[in-house]
Amino acid sequence: MLVYILPGTLESREVDLDALWEAGATGLEERGGHLRAYFDAEVPLALNGEWTNEPDQDWQADWKKGLTPVTAGRFTIAPSWLAHEVPPGQIPLLIDPGMAFGTGHHATTRLAVEAIGQLDLTGRTVLDVGTGSGVLALAAALGGAAEVLGLDIDPITIPAAYENAELNGLSVKNGVVQIKGGTLRFEEGSLDLDLLDDKPIYTLLVANLFAELHDLLAGAYRAALQPGSPLILTGILEDRLPMVRAALEREAFSDIAEILDGEWALVTALS
Ligand code: SAM
Repeated sequence: MLVYILPGTLESREVDLDALWEAGATGLEERGGHLRAYFDAEVPLALNGEWTNEPDQDWQADWKKGLTPVTAGRFTIAPSWLAHEVPPGQIPLLIDPGMAFGTGHHATTRLAVEAIGQLDLTGRTVLDVGTGSGVLALAAALGGAAEVLGLDIDPITIPAAYENAELNGLSVKNGVVQIKGGTLRFEEGSLDLDLLDDKPIYTLLVANLFAELHDLLAGAYRAALQPGSPLILTGILEDRLPMVRAALEREAFSDIAEILDGEWALVTALS
């Protein structure tokens, strides 16, 4: 791998970037106070850098090595190639990283999976708004829920979520995943009150979105949930907690509680 290394950063060397691209750089990177320009062949450059030939790196393998299983309460979230590292007694939740958010390496996903695992899921009808990789919907399904629906406005997440369902040994037919208690589906869309047909049908709602959206959707969460059902919200930065709390109070949710992990918060409440 041929690298031309110059002192400075992308910002301080901004005037030289065009020259590097025009000379045939295939990529630029800033590392340890140096700008690194990658090339396929040495070219004349009138800059104060140095050419080095570094051993090729298998980025894919390095990146995979960096992923480790994540414990979230009674679940261990792991990529499929580390399924054997899930400790006995833990429920394996296999998620392969891809374009969809939710491998368990973000505090919000971990907090939500942990909160889901603290509930008795048997027989529950679960709605996961912003399903991403499907991780929260799958946690509910593997934990014993009866009916689970994962919604996401981003269409790329839906096939990813179905693939993750299959990784967990679940069979998918015509967009329906067979689970122990009933069925799991993933659909493109968001929490649409028209779909509810005025009936609060869910007995658990989970959503890893962001505070402003929770504020906007709080009334819909209320309408979707049967009375006394748990709501689990995350994706909330600590300084936005008052906004989410106020929205839940406005919609008459009770038992509002918060858990923090670094700057991220999870809020639970009862409808
Ligand atoms: N549920 C996964 C988790 O906990 O790791 C993924 C959460 S990721 C932070 C948020 C997801 O919500 C993204 O996949 C995004 O496309 C989706 N999203 C954003 N706005 C949405 C909306 N209004 N309705 C449904 N999904 C939405």
